[in-house]
Amino acid sequence: MPAETYLFTCLTDNFGVLIHDPMSGATASIDAPEAAPVEAALRKTGWRLTDILVTHHHADHTAGIGELKARHNCRVVAPRGEARRISHVDKAVGEGDTVNVGGLESRVIETPGHTAGHISYFFPAEKIAFVGDTLFSIGCGRVIEGNAETMWQSLLKLRGLPEDTRFYCGHEYTAANIRFAKTIDSNNKALAARDEEVRRLLASGKSTIPATIGAEKAANPFLRADDAELAKSLGLSGSPAWKVFAEIRERKNRF
Ligand code: ZN
Ligand code: FE
Repeated sequence: MPAETYLFTCLTDNFGVLIHDPMSGATASIDAPEAAPVEAALRKTGWRLTDILVTHHHADHTAGIGELKARHNCRVVAPRGEARRISHVDKAVGEGDTVNVGGLESRVIETPGHTAGHISYFFPAEKIAFVGDTLFSIGCGRVIEGNAETMWQSLLKLRGLPEDTRFYCGHEYTAANIRFAKTIDSNNKALAARDEEVRRLLASGKSTIPATIGAEKAANPFLRADDAELAKSLGLSGSPAWKVFAEIRERKNRF
């Protein structure tokens, strides 16, 4: 039986998401922005919380851990590099480690840049990735604890996942990201198509994720920093991709 997922909103623009293994009944919450919406999602689905898979230490991804742990005695898995900054961690993990949710298996991918120890969880059999605040649809996280080169390398790792991988990110920022992306990549047909799709989804009250890695590669300027045309339009022909990435990130910061 395939894995099931359940997506919901937390705080103002954070996503909460559950992944559930119907065979074993195991259920993981990816991050825990706040406890109440996770509890509501568990009631709605009838699933039992067995694990919390944390992507990074920021409060809008961890504030609900204590309450959920107290109520469900679930296992808390967190990035090794940030385990001391996150409460109630049972298992600290890093690059290449395997994290199971019942019979479902995920592989840890270290994706530093937004925070120094940020990790993503990739479920190869399900072709699902949970990427926290590293990759957003048509955007990427702010580079807070790393530098542009580190973040670019992290994005390359995610870009290298199978094209039909569906990824879940930490925030609903897609519409604002598209407004920015159009200012630097205005002739991109894939971006125009994504703009149309996102308008439709939001107008009908739906979320814009998950998106696929394949679609994102074509439309997200932060994944296109090694595209010669895009580099040229930014006046950076011949520059290393990470410098082009840094310029795009700077422009977004000022947008
Ligand atoms: Zn964050
Ligand atoms: Fe966040």
